This record gives sequence, C-alpha cells and structure tokens, in this order.
Amino acid sequence: MTNSFFDQFGLKRIINASGKMTALGASAVTEEVANALKAAAQSYVDMDELIEYAGKVIAHHTGAEDGCPTNGAATGIVISTAAVIAGKNISLIERMPNSGGLKNEIIIQKGQNINFGGNIDQMIRMGGGQVIEVGSVNKVEIDHIGEAITDKTAALIYIKSHHAVQKGMQSIESMIKIAQKHHIPLMIDGAAESDFQKYIEMGADVVIYSGGKALGGPTSGFISGKRQLMEACREQYKGIGRAMKVGKESIAGLIVALNQYPFRDTRADEQFNRMKAFCKRLNEVEGLTGTIHQDEAGRRIYRARIEVQKQANVTAEQLLHRLESGKPGIYLRAHYANVGILFVDPRPLLAGQEDIIAERIIAIIKEEGDDNVE
Ligand SMILES: *Cc1c(COP(=O)(O)O)cnc(C)c1O
Repeated sequence: MTNSFFDQFGLKRIINASGKMTALGASAVTEEVANALKAAAQSYVDMDELIEYAGKVIAHHTGAEDGCPTNGAATGIVISTAAVIAGKNISLIERMPNSGGLKNEIIIQKGQNINFGGNIDQMIRMGGGQVIEVGSVNKVEIDHIGEAITDKTAALIYIKSHHAVQKGMQSIESMIKIAQKHHIPLMIDGAAESDFQKYIEMGADVVIYSGGKALGGPTSGFISGKRQLMEACREQYKGIGRAMKVGKESIAGLIVALNQYPFRDTRADEQFNRMKAFCKRLNEVEGLTGTIHQDEAGRRIYRARIEVQKQANVTAEQLLHRLESGKPGIYLRAHYANVGILFVDPRPLLAGQEDIIAERIIAIIKEEGDDNVE
C-alpha cells in the first residue's frame, strides 16, 4: 500500500530491510498518524501555539521540563546550537550563524564528529557554533575536555550513534559531570535512540531525537530539555529556524506518534519468528549461513544475520548490489558487508516481504553457480 503510492510517478518500488533509513523514507507511519497528517494539512492553526503545545507533549513523554518540535534531528542540532549561543535575544537570533565575538564554541570528542548521512560538524556550524574537537579519534581523556573549556565555550555535545567510535570516548555520565562542574549545557544527539527519557533522567540539558527513526513518526524531530533552553530553541524559528521550518502536518503527526509510542506493539516475538523462518530457508543454500542476531544495543530487535561464504560464488557486496539494482530494489543492512555479513531488519518489512527477499537471494546465488559451470 504505502510503497505503491510512488508507482504513479514511475519510481522504483523498494523493499526496505535495512532499518530506519532516511535515504529510503525512514518510516511508514500508522493509520492514526497518517490521518493526523491529512487532517492537519486541511486545517488552520496559530503556529506559535501549536509549537508550544507540541513542546508540552514532548515534555510529557520525555520527562523533560519542555520541548521543541523540528523537522528532523539534524535541524535539532542546528537549532539547539543557535539557542545556546543566541538565547532569546532577537538581535542575536537574527545574526546567526554569524556568532563572532559571542560565546560560540561547541566541544565534541574527536571520535564523534561523524557523518550520519549529513555532517555533524556542518550542522553545528550552521547554528553558529565553532566546532572544537578534542582528543584523538580513538582516545579522549577527561582532561582533554576540561582543558578545552574556556569563557568562549557555549556547550558540550555528545553524539550517540553506531557511526561514532565506541571505545576510548568519555561516557555520557562523564560528560554530564564535566558540564555540571563548569556550568555549561550538555547537548546529546540521540537521533536514532528509542528511550526518550533516559538522558534527561541522567541530567542532560538538551536531548535531540529524530521523529522518523525509533518513533516511527513522520519526517520530523524533537528536542527535549531545560525550560529556558527549549524556549530559546522555539525562538530560533524567528531566525535560522525559518529556513528549516516544521510544518503543521509534521507537528500533528509527531504529536500523535508520541502519544501512541507508550502503547505501541513492538511485535518483537512475531518478528523473531519471521526472521527464524527466513534464516531456515537461507541455510538450505550452500554458501549462506543465517542466524538470529539481537540488536547490539540490547533492544528487542531480532535481525537475520547472513554470512556469505566462498561457496556462494558471490561476495556479500556483489549480492548487495544485485539486490539493490533489481526490481523491486531490495535494501539490506550493509554496515558489515566488507567482512561478508549482511543483515535483514524486520521492522520496516511489510507482510511477506521476507519471502520475496529470500527468493531473490536464492535466485542470485543459483545464477552465479550456473555461470561458473558454463
Ligand atoms: C539520523 C541521524 C541524524 C539526523 O536525523 P534526521 O531526523 O534525519 O534529521 C542526526 N544524528 C544522528 C546520529 C543520526 O543518526
């Protein structure tokens, strides 16, 4: 259903088995969220009031004092950065991203200055921040951070992402301690995280999420945090935020998605069984080994892990390419393709799509086998 809407434009049909990927349209929303998007698009509202109301909903679900809706987590970084630098001063808000002479330095651990599909560094600079990288890519000491803090420091930022270097970095706990000791705010980019309360509870000042990832909402995002800072975030819509404004439809969909979130059926057991049956089919093929693999972060996501061996006569990367360029285009989770391992993420799959994927994989391996015989 959701996929076929784009058929009328002549665009390629996609099976998304890779996860919550922005490049593939992130999430397919529930009926209730879809209805909210439609109804909001056909109504008028005072946008300032809507944004303030959304802030209260975000606060309710995150345990934070207040919140701010955005059109994505990337915008969340830009707006939060502008907020910690310009505050609620309209002249400064209108001056961003030109922050010369102001407290504008944002400290980041070197192993976290990543590209998530866009560039963290650039998002901070768009908000008027001057990025101060500390430590080495694989090693950051507490003192690296402490020694970088000066009277020009506006905030610390921590990026929680599988793209970041996981070892040798200072933990969130440690960053919170440093921030509190120096009375500067700590911002956390938790774009893809599924626990919307954890970091606020730990003591972070600003936490940024994507609305289209774990939440499964429309293209949107939200910031949660301290009241003064959230008011300052909302004020940025008079400045830099205007160029990345969030629509009434997205805010309405975000609100409904947040309200549904505590009651969502994670369907983890059903997904586990579907992936088990999928693995069983692949295990009948020489050169493939399918096993169930629980999410590294310990979430109840059970992905199928496919190991592509020599006997398959294709490499994991070749298999990936064949799947993506076929019709429909099938996208697997490919972070470990270079070492011969692919994953199927069951969360975005519509009913029965795992069978289409298994059939395609088996057909490709068979073809390759035949080619070698000739
Ligand atoms: C996806 C992601 C973003 C951007 O989120 P959008 O909602 O697509 O703007 C930012 N930071 C990290 C770590 C991400 O994974």
